[in-house]
Amino acid sequence: MSEYFEQTLWVLGAGQLGNMLQHAAYPLGVNVKPIDIDAAQAPVLAKNDVVTAEREEWPSTPVTDALAAHSNFANQAFFATIADRFKQKSLLDELELATAPWQLVETATTESDLHNKLGDRVLLKRRKGGYDGRGQHWLKKAEQSLIPDDWHNNAIAEQAINFCEEVSLIGVRDQQGKCYFYPLTLNLHQNGILTASISPLNRLKPYQETAEKMLTKLMSAVDYVGVMAMECFKVGDKLLINEIAPRVHNSGHWTQAGSNISQFESHVRCVTGLPMIVPSIRNTNFMINLIGCELDKRWLAVEGSELFWYQKSVRAGRKVGHINFSKTGVENISAALDQIEPLLPSQYSDTINWLRKELLIN
Ligand code: ADP
Ligand code: MG
Repeated sequence: MSEYFEQTLWVLGAGQLGNMLQHAAYPLGVNVKPIDIDAAQAPVLAKNDVVTAEREEWPSTPVTDALAAHSNFANQAFFATIADRFKQKSLLDELELATAPWQLVETATTESDLHNKLGDRVLLKRRKGGYDGRGQHWLKKAEQSLIPDDWHNNAIAEQAINFCEEVSLIGVRDQQGKCYFYPLTLNLHQNGILTASISPLNRLKPYQETAEKMLTKLMSAVDYVGVMAMECFKVGDKLLINEIAPRVHNSGHWTQAGSNISQFESHVRCVTGLPMIVPSIRNTNFMINLIGCELDKRWLAVEGSELFWYQKSVRAGRKVGHINFSKTGVENISAALDQIEPLLPSQYSDTINWLRKELLIN
C-alpha cells in the first residue's frame, strides 16, 4: 500500500482497460490496482477503497468474492443486468429505448419461429460471455442454418440490421447525477471486431442530442456512476442501440489523444467522487486497433502517432494495442495515413481506406 496516494481504486480484471485506468489515474493521486481474477491471493481492501470492473461478468473466485463483498463497488448490481443480453435487451425495451428487434431462444424455439418473427437473416448471440464478435451465430433461411444445440435458453436472436454505419456514445455520470458526453464516434467493425474509430465528425452532430438523451435515460434509470458506452446502428437517420457496456470502451480510446480528460480519467474521477468537468475536445481524432500483429517500433516514428501497447501475447484476432492520432487539416491526416499504412499488415488496407474515405472525402 502506498501512503502517497489519497485513494485506492481496485479494478476487477487485469487487462488493458485496467492498465489504461491506472495510467490515467496516476496524476490524480489515485492508486489504481487492476487485479487478475485468478490471482492466488485475495486482496485486502480498506473501508474507503473503491472497486470497479473492466469486464461485465466474472466467475466466483477468491479475488472476485473479496471485491464483490466491498460496499463501494460502483454499479455492482447493474453488471448482472448488462452481462446477460436477455436482461440487457429487456431493460432497453422497458425504457423504450430503440434496439434491434429480438427474442429469447427458448427450449421450444425453432428456426422457422425466428425467421417468421425476425426475417430471413437472424443473428444469434450468446446471452453471456461474447465479445469482439465471438459468441455469435448467423441463422440464414437461404442456407437453412440451424440453431446450435446448446444455444437454446443460452442465446437471444436478433433481426439482421441493415445499418448505414455504426456509431457509439461514451457517456459519464457523476455521483451527483450530472451527465457528460464525448462527441459521437464513428466505428468500423471488421469480422465483428472494432478496427478503427473517428471522432468528432461534423456530419454526426445532428445525432448527438438524441444519442445523449437515450444514454441519459439509461444511466439515470439505474443511478449509474462512471463511464458507460452505447453502441448504436445508424439506420437512415435513426439510432438503434446495439449494445451497452458498463465501462470504459474501445471506441472511446481516442479520448486519450483528443480530450483534456480521457474516458479513463473520467471514469476514475466519477467512481472515486473527484470533481468532474465537461471534457474539452481537440482536433479530429482517429484510432486504429492493433489486432493480432507484432509490435513494430517504426510506428513510433510516424508523425503524431500515439501508441498504446497492451503487453499481451500476440494471437490472431486478439487486440494487442492501438494507435491514436489527433490531427487537424486534411494534409496532416492524409500524411499520417500514408505513413502508417505500409507499417501495418496488408489486411489493414481496407481499414486505412475507410479512414481516408471518412476523414478526407466526407
Ligand atoms: P460484441 O460484444 O462482440 O461487440 P456486438 O453485439 O456488438 O457484440 O456485435 C459485434 C458486431 O456484429 C457489431 O458491431 C456489428 O457490426 C455486428 N452486429 C451485431 N448485431 C447485429 C445485427 N443485429 N445486425 C447486423 N449486424 C450486427
Ligand atoms: Mg459490440
